[in-house]
Amino acid sequence: MSELPIKKPWRRFIAGAECPSCNKTDTTYLDQRHGSEFRVCVRCEFEEPRLEPVEAEPLRFQPE
Ligand SMILES: [Zn+2]
Repeated sequence: MSELPIKKPWRRFIAGAECPSCNKTDTTYLDQRHGSEFRVCVRCEFEEPRLEPVEAEPLRFQPE
């Protein structure tokens, strides 16, 4: 076992996703910047903000 990386970059590849720019599959991953998710391609310079909303939670009222 080697040393554990203390700081691991937040990078999550999207399985089966196709890059709209270079048309390659499995080359795009989600990157997190400034609290927002971006879809980035490792083959070309494609990147765009992730359009899907991040899990909307219903508002709850908390009576005191
Ligand atoms: Zn690409």
